[in-house]
Amino acid sequence: MKLSLVVPCYNEMDNVQEFYHCAKACFRGKIDDYEIIFVNDGSTDKTLEKLYTLTEHEEPALQIVSFSRNFGKESAIYAGLAHSRGDTVCIIDADLQQRPEVVLEMMKILDSRPEVDCVCAYQEKRRENKLISFVKSLFYKIINGISDVDFVNGASDFRLMKRQMVNVILSMTEYHRFSKGIFSWIGFNTEYIPYEVASRKHGKTKWSPKKLFDYGVGGIIAFSTAPLKFVTVVGFVSAFLSIAYMITVIVQKLCFGIDVPGYATIIVLLLLMGGLILFCLGIIGEYLAKMYVQLKNRPIYIEKEHFDNRNK
Ligand code: UDP
Ligand code: MG
Repeated sequence: MKLSLVVPCYNEMDNVQEFYHCAKACFRGKIDDYEIIFVNDGSTDKTLEKLYTLTEHEEPALQIVSFSRNFGKESAIYAGLAHSRGDTVCIIDADLQQRPEVVLEMMKILDSRPEVDCVCAYQEKRRENKLISFVKSLFYKIINGISDVDFVNGASDFRLMKRQMVNVILSMTEYHRFSKGIFSWIGFNTEYIPYEVASRKHGKTKWSPKKLFDYGVGGIIAFSTAPLKFVTVVGFVSAFLSIAYMITVIVQKLCFGIDVPGYATIIVLLLLMGGLILFCLGIIGEYLAKMYVQLKNRPIYIEKEHFDNRNK
């Protein structure tokens, strides 16, 4: 099989059928041996029902993987990759913001240049709120500054990968997944092409500012230990300053007989140090919490149903 399309869906009941027909129309006569894998990530609307209406079609190959609850897009991507059979696999959103025509462009590059393992589409112009766009750019600056892995600003999960790369991603079974980091960390030769994001067809984005913030923090923790080094540096600097101050106080008292007026200084320093210690503990706690969850070794997703029109 030439291509697998992996489509994570969470409450996309108005989009999935349109996506299916759009992809089918786009690939007709251009790619004939392909499959579409919809991963229903615990939708609470009629997404699954709408997906099952598509099973009346014989072509193309269709798989529907349905989770027992919402596990998040990262888990949906993993499940889709795990079920894929294509020599190449493309991850694409269900909301038609990423047009299937771009997949054909990606395919052309993979077909014509054997040295390329992956084609990733990046947004040249972000079509979102200026503040969110600014925060996202800032996030990329920070994470690129403190991590050994390269993160391309605007690059998404929308990418076409060869089987070898997919298998390597599947071998990485970490629980807290941050695909952008995993894609870069594993290496391989990636070609970036610009694409224009269309507006969402129906429904609204599943990413609230809080979810985005947590996802960003998770990414930093997964791909950098710089915050832990920061804790060490803070400890070192404050210890150094305390010793310097202690020496000054002793010299003032013994050599010049000056009594150091203390109350305000002590309170300010106490509060400052207390705050810093708690902040540093918080950073360590974030790593510890992630380790704790990872240690439990729970599955990345739980599959409740699986339909495959090639196994009927
Ligand atoms: N998605 C998912 N699980 C989630 C959140 C999102 O499978 O918990 C899917 C969603 O259905 C869509 C894709 O991930 O197909 C991208 O989500 P969305 O369009 O909300 O993100 P945005 O385009 O706004 O970044
Ligand atoms: Mg979207």
